[in-house]
Amino acid sequence: MKKALIIGSGFSGCVPAMLLNEKGWSVTVIEKADFVGGGVRTFLYGEHPFTYGPRHFLSPYPEAYSFLNKYVPLRDLKKINYTYIESDQTFFTYPPHRDDIGKMAEAEQIQKELDVLPEESHAINFETFWTQRVGETLYSKFIKHYNKRAWLLDSNTEMDFGFEATVKRKPLETGERYEFKDWYNCYPIPHDGYNRFFDIALDECEVLLNTNVTGFDLERTTLHINDQKIKGDIIISTISPDILMDCQYGELKYVGRDFLKFVLPIEHVFPKDVYFIYYPNENDTQTRVVEYKKFTLHESPHTLLSVEVPSLKNKLYPTMIQSEVDKAKQYIDALPADVYSVGRMGTYRYIDIDDIIMQSMEFVGTL
Ligand SMILES: Cc1cc2nc3c(=O)[nH]c(=O)nc-3n(C[C@H](O)[C@H](O)[C@H](O)COP(=O)(O)OP(=O)(O)OC[C@H]3O[C@@H](n4cnc5c(N)ncnc54)[C@H](O)[C@@H]3O)c2cc1C
Repeated sequence: MKKALIIGSGFSGCVPAMLLNEKGWSVTVIEKADFVGGGVRTFLYGEHPFTYGPRHFLSPYPEAYSFLNKYVPLRDLKKINYTYIESDQTFFTYPPHRDDIGKMAEAEQIQKELDVLPEESHAINFETFWTQRVGETLYSKFIKHYNKRAWLLDSNTEMDFGFEATVKRKPLETGERYEFKDWYNCYPIPHDGYNRFFDIALDECEVLLNTNVTGFDLERTTLHINDQKIKGDIIISTISPDILMDCQYGELKYVGRDFLKFVLPIEHVFPKDVYFIYYPNENDTQTRVVEYKKFTLHESPHTLLSVEVPSLKNKLYPTMIQSEVDKAKQYIDALPADVYSVGRMGTYRYIDIDDIIMQSMEFVGTL
C-alpha cells in the first residue's frame, strides 16, 4: 500500500487525504494545532458559532460545489456588501455602483473621469489597473486606502502581480446589487460550519495533532516529528514552501489579520442582506466588519461581530508582489518529484476553498 504524508489539515490537506484514501493509499496527516480544519475551523464564542473570515463558499465550479455539498449541505446567500464613505457621511454598496455617483460629493469630477477612461488599458500594477477602470476619484474613495491597509503596503504600485483578480464581478457595478448571483454563493447549513467535512475526510487516516514537523528530508520523502523520522512514498505539503527548505532563497512575505470579536446585546445590527461592511477611508484602522449571524443564521437575542485589522502577527495572505511570487516559484521548482506543495500557502497563490477542491481533484487524479 502506498503511503502519503500530508503536512497540515486545512482544506488543502483534507481534500487530498480523503481522495487518496478512497484510492487505497495509507495517509498520515500531521497537524501542529490541536484541531483539524486549519483556518476554516468553526469555533464557538459563548453560544455563537464563528469562523475567522468567515469563509463563505463562492465559486463558478459546479464540481467543487457538488463535492462539498455532499458532506456539508450548503445554503444560498443573497448578499450585499456596504462600504462607509466618511466624506459623504453615508454607506454605499460595494463594488461602487453607477447609480450612486449622483449622490457623491465629487459626482461631476467622477463623471468627467469616467467619460475619458481608456478603452484598452495596459496596467502594470494595482493602482494603474484601477484608475484606468474607475478613474482617480472613485479609486481614492473606495479602493486606494483599503487596499494599502489590507496588504500593509506603502503604495499600491507595489502590487504588481495578479491585481486583475481584485475585481469583484465588475469594477463599476450597474443594475443588480446582490453579489455574485450567477455563482455558487453559499454557507454551510450546519451550526458547526465545515467541521463535519474535516472529520469525514480524515476518518480513515492517521491524524497526528499537536505535531509540528521540525525537519524535512525531502529527497528521502521523510519528515522529522517529535524526535522520530517518518517516511512516505510522497509528501503533500500545505505550508509555506520556504519552510521546507530552511528559507534558503529568503523568507516569503505574508500579511495576516487580527480578528476582534465582540457580542452585542441586540438581535441584529446590520440591515437585511448586508453581511460585511468595508471601511476604505484614509484614517480607518480596520478593513471590514462582519456580523456572523448573517452567515450562520444562529438564533439568539444577541449578535456576534468581528472587526478585521491587518497585521503581521500571523501569515494568512501570500502577497501579490512579483518578486515574492518568483521567490515562491524558486522553492516550488526545487522540490523533488515526490513532494507536492499545494493549497494557499503551498502554491503562494491567493486561492479559495473552491480552487483548493478543484486543484486537489486534479492532482490526486494524476497519482
Ligand atoms: C481571513 C480569510 C478569509 C477567507 N475567506 C474566504 C472565503 O470567504 N471563501 C473562500 O473560499 N476562501 C476564503 N479564504 C481562503 C481559504 O479559506 C483558504 O484558501 C483555505 O482555507 C486554505 O486552506 P489550506 O489548507 O491551504 O491552509 P490552512 O487552512 O491555513 O491550513 C494549513 C494547516 O497547516 C498547519 N501547519 C502549519 N505549519 C505546520 C507544521 N510545521 N507542521 C504541521 N502542521 C502545520 C496549520 O496549523 C493549518 O492547520 C479566506 C482566507 C483568509 C485568510
